[in-house]
Amino acid sequence: MSPVLDPIQRRKTLPVSVGPITIGGGAPVVVQSMTNTDTGDIESTVRQIAELARAGSELVRITVNHESAAKAVPVIRDALAAQGCEVPLVGDFHFNGHRLLADYPECAEALAKYRINPGNVGKGEKKDSQFATMIELACRYDRPVRIGVNGGSLDQEVVVRLMDENARAAQPKSAERIMHEAMVESAISSAERAVQIGLPRDHIILSCKMSGVQELISVYRMLADRGDFALHLGLTEAGMGSKGIVASTAALAVLLQEGIGDTIRVSLTPAPGEARTREVQVAQEILQSMGFRSFAPMVTACPGCGRTTSDTFQHLAQNIQAYLRDQMPEWRNRYPGVESMQVAVMGCVVNGPGESKNANIGISLPGSGERPSAPVYVDGEKVATLKGEGIADQFKRMVDDYIET
Ligand code: SF4
Repeated sequence: MSPVLDPIQRRKTLPVSVGPITIGGGAPVVVQSMTNTDTGDIESTVRQIAELARAGSELVRITVNHESAAKAVPVIRDALAAQGCEVPLVGDFHFNGHRLLADYPECAEALAKYRINPGNVGKGEKKDSQFATMIELACRYDRPVRIGVNGGSLDQEVVVRLMDENARAAQPKSAERIMHEAMVESAISSAERAVQIGLPRDHIILSCKMSGVQELISVYRMLADRGDFALHLGLTEAGMGSKGIVASTAALAVLLQEGIGDTIRVSLTPAPGEARTREVQVAQEILQSMGFRSFAPMVTACPGCGRTTSDTFQHLAQNIQAYLRDQMPEWRNRYPGVESMQVAVMGCVVNGPGESKNANIGISLPGSGERPSAPVYVDGEKVATLKGEGIADQFKRMVDDYIET
């Protein structure tokens, strides 16, 4: 897809290696996700990580919250490798991360990155020493760290200090502004402390997640102005269903358009029975819709209107999109470039031929009052007219043939 707007100038950040993946430094924006299994439940966690990786998650974060989780991490890494899944694993630590990383060196070694929340490493003097322990272990194992500040667990010492300073200021700022500055200050001061301890700057990724769209945009703009650390974007607690998708897209799209963000996670609350992989799909669709990356062929479909005589085209569009996405893990290597392909499935002659000609392959199904035939266009040329009951199946076979050739 060629950008219509001026090319986006990505903000210059330091490249961070997370296993074989590079985050920042101009590398393509990385998609990541997180499991929701008990990490101590090895079988379920391995299955979910493999599903997320197969869906296209380039990093997968897992909770490491107790001893059984820490013991499970190297077993999970080995079980995934045995089935050919080498996705880098990120350990999410809160409260006891210093102890788990120190007591379970095989866990520390198996993880490709550690996530540390400066609001949840301890209190007072303990906070400093426990944070230092985690950073020293990251240095020992040569692992990058994400310093992940979260609006729901912000370091209160930073908040109180900034509030006090603000109370003495000639022109006090709003409480909301102070909270935003506290998020950024917590991330930056923690990163600088990590550097003092010995962690290289190109081993640090920052995030400041909030649950409000405008708040997130404001905080990340400030964060981006404060240095060249690579940034992880995500709206935390985005919510369920369309609300979560819309809110995440609104926030991330604004920041990405401004060149801010080196890796993204879309934090959706899955509906009961809904696949965890939905968050990976949404993250990919945000990046692909904006022209940053291509992950799977996109299907252009019209919304339908009074001219459509049936929902055949909607079924066909859904069917083809799901089929293309499901095939991508195999097709990615076999058919280079297939992820950039465009398929059109249109409901009638009004816009059907035009959109179909613009796609690599497209079909214009017969609308109300039209002859029961469906022209198919390949690379802008009409190549066939499908008729009869099995138009959908015939078109699917043509899509297969197109991809193979
Ligand atoms: Fe309606 Fe035809 Fe437009 Fe689809 S292409 S929305 S069926 S007029």
